[in-house]
Formats: sequence, C-alpha cells, structure tokens
Amino acid sequence: MSVIKKDIAIVGAGVSGLALCLALQEDFQVALIDPIEPQTTWPKDKPALRQSALNLSSKALFEKLGVWDSIMDYHHGRYRSMHVWDHISGADITMDASEVAESYLGYIIENRVLCAALWQHITAKSIEHPCYGVFGSKLDSITKVGECWQLTTQDGVQIEAPLVVAADGARSWLRQELNFTSVSGSYEQSALVALVEHQKPHAQCASQVFLPEGPLAFLPQHDPHYSSIVWTMEPEQAQRHLELSNDDFNQALSQAFSAQLGACKLVGEKHSRGVFPLHYHHAKCYFKDQVVLLADAGHQIHPLAGQGMNLGLADVAALALQLQKAKAKKRPFYTDHVLRGYQQQRYKHNQTTLMAMNTFKKLFSNDHAPSVLLRSFGLKSANKLGFIKRYCIKQALYGQD
Ligand SMILES: Cc1cc2nc3c(=O)[nH]c(=O)nc-3n(C[C@H](O)[C@H](O)[C@H](O)COP(=O)(O)OP(=O)(O)OC[C@H]3O[C@@H](n4cnc5c(N)ncnc54)[C@H](O)[C@@H]3O)c2cc1C
Repeated sequence: MSVIKKDIAIVGAGVSGLALCLALQEDFQVALIDPIEPQTTWPKDKPALRQSALNLSSKALFEKLGVWDSIMDYHHGRYRSMHVWDHISGADITMDASEVAESYLGYIIENRVLCAALWQHITAKSIEHPCYGVFGSKLDSITKVGECWQLTTQDGVQIEAPLVVAADGARSWLRQELNFTSVSGSYEQSALVALVEHQKPHAQCASQVFLPEGPLAFLPQHDPHYSSIVWTMEPEQAQRHLELSNDDFNQALSQAFSAQLGACKLVGEKHSRGVFPLHYHHAKCYFKDQVVLLADAGHQIHPLAGQGMNLGLADVAALALQLQKAKAKKRPFYTDHVLRGYQQQRYKHNQTTLMAMNTFKKLFSNDHAPSVLLRSFGLKSANKLGFIKRYCIKQALYGQD
C-alpha cells in the first residue's frame, strides 16, 4: 500500500480534532484519522447523552470557522442565568448575563451536533482544499523516518507527515505511546448523564446543586421543560442509579434536586442514561519531537464547571494561530519554537483551571463542617461582592478574566 504524504496528521476526529482540521484546511494538507467517520445523521428519537455548555470564546471560534450558523440550525439550549447552591447550608450564588451586558451566558449543544456541523464544513471545503480522511480503524503504530513521522492504522493505511497532532482524547494512545509524562489521578466519582423532562420551566437558567456526594447540574434545552443532567457521585452509587427502574430513577432525581423544577422524568426508554468515570490528567509538556497534544489528550478536568471542551477549543485557536503565523512567514511550522508558542499561550491557564476544579471538587463533595462553613462563606461573599461576582461571570463566559 502506498504512503500518503501530508503536512499535518491529526489523530482523532472528536470536536477538537475536527475544529483544528477545519481551521488548517486552507493553509495545510491535512490527514484526519479516526476509527469512526463523524456522523451527520442519527435517529430522531435517540436522545443525546453527551452535551456541552459552550462559552462565548468557543462560540467566537466557531463563528471564525464559519460553522456557528449551522450549529444553531440544530436544536440547542441557551442560558441567560446560572444558579448554584450548596445543599447543606443553602448558600447560593446567581449570575445573570445582564450583569456583564451580554444576552446569554452560554449555549448547551449536543457533542454530535458539533461534530456533524464541523464535518459537513470540512467535506464542503474539501472540493477546493482536500482533507484526507482515514476512517475505519485506530492508529496503532508510529515511527520516525527522517524528518517525518510515519503513522500506520490497524488496517495498514500509512500516512507520513512532519507534524502529528494528538487529538485522540483523554486516554490518548499517542500520548502514552510516545511517553509524554502527565500528572494524573481519579476523582473517585462518576458522572451520570441523561436527558430529562420536568414539570416547571427552566427559564433559561442553568442550575447546579452541590450535594455531599457531588454536584448535580441541570442544563437547559431548547424546550423549556427539558434539561440535560450531569449528576456526579461515587462510582458504585452511579452504577446503582444506572440500574434503577425509570420510575425509581425519576423519583431519586426529583428528590436530589429538591423538586426545584418539579417532578422529573427520563426522556427515551432504552439507553437513556450513561455513566462516565471521572479522571484528571495534565501532561507536563504539550509537545515533543514534532508531536503536539491538543485538548483532552493534553488535559482533562472535572466537568463541574463545564469547561473541558472550552479549554480544548481555546487550544485549537492557539495552535492554529501559531501554525498559520509560521506558514505566513515561510518558516517550518513543526519546530519546537512554533509549538512552544502554543504551549506558552495555553499551559498556565489550563493548569490554573485544573487546580481550581480539583479544589472545588474537594471542598464541595463532602459534608464536613469546616468545608460547609467555608463554601457557604465563599458562595455568599461571591454573591454579594460585585467585583468577585463579575469575575466569576467572566470566567464562565469567556473561560478567562
Ligand atoms: C459528563 C461530562 C460532561 C461534560 N460537560 C462539558 C461541558 O458542559 N462543557 C465543556 O466544555 N466540556 C464538558 N466536558 C468535557 C468534554 O466532553 C471534553 O473535553 C471533550 O469532549 C474532549 O474533546 P476531544 O476532541 O479532545 O476528545 P474526544 O471527544 O474524546 O475525541 C477523541 C477522538 O479520538 C479518537 N481516537 C481515540 N483513539 C484513537 C486512535 N488510537 N486512533 C485514532 N483515533 C482515535 C476517538 O474515536 C475520538 O473521536 C464534559 C465531560 C464529561 C465526561
């Protein structure tokens, strides 16, 4: 089989790999490798378990890529306000987009919609700027041949490129194969996700209660009586909740949320719940020897603030910019100098966010009196002090100060 030669091989066609592909397609010859070709259709009655709260920086990237209007054509939720409270002390904070002169704080979009819209744009653009998609099997071998990496999939397809982007997710095969060192651990929690219908309307408010076992979030959908939930708890407890009958689950959920939105009911009969074990990791370095880590391949955080994908998309914007700048100056785009520019732009912010999530997780996922006092004081102060509150809102909106 002949070897396919490209400028850049992107391994992983999740949201981050696809977004990077679309960003680079005009300026570089790109190969995109994933065992599964991105789906553009799915059964109408199959609820989407994976949804993400996207901030305004992610929206700006999708607008720049020309894909935002297509995303908005699909069903999506948007929220003007957020309400977060502690179940034990009752202390809370409310945030409203109007406090920072914005219309919305964020958008809730199905991951499959993001992938579909990105892939449709990549294929449309491929007429003028071909992108070489290698789907059907995993990448399982990588060797350096002179200045280039040679990648081979399980099917035997060979791709050669001077730059390889690992966008193959939190359990990145490439990161492990090339021995990138990481700080990692388990949160000893799992996130149970589902789509639910509730009696009272959500009023475009994203709500989250911190229960002793972990946070429970309701993310508003397009329909005012529907929300996507992320319910974090100990892994054994999550497994038990997964196995409950629909009626028992509905009752447990309504109770855990103190019936804030009235009685809740699962949408979809079968496979209407999913469980994701939660881990964190952060690579010590994002690049080495012409291979660069992107998004979850480089860092993974707790979903309690819905920031993981937003961080990954900010990585995409930063990496695309560095590569395009090098290309514009007619310099090699795969040097340490270029890749260090990307790392410098992203590392500190990703590290700070990871540390903040780990601290929140520790502080909020227990019923110890000192922690309850501290978080109650924190929430009340943040709610009262305008400058702290505006800081929190800006973090949620843009993922930065
Ligand atoms: C419960 C939960 C809720 C979340 N909610 C939010 C939220 O509200 N907001 C937010 O910003 N983030 C959220 N996140 C985080 C977000 O889902 C992830 O950060 C994001 O999906 C990571 O995207 P990615 O493209 O980096 O990786 P992935 O989506 O994991 O994509 C990786 C791709 O690589 C492919 N791949 C894997 N191995 C190979 C191989 N060997 N060869 C070729 N291809 C390979 C896979 O098939 C896949 O397509 C949440 C996470 C969880 C668990």
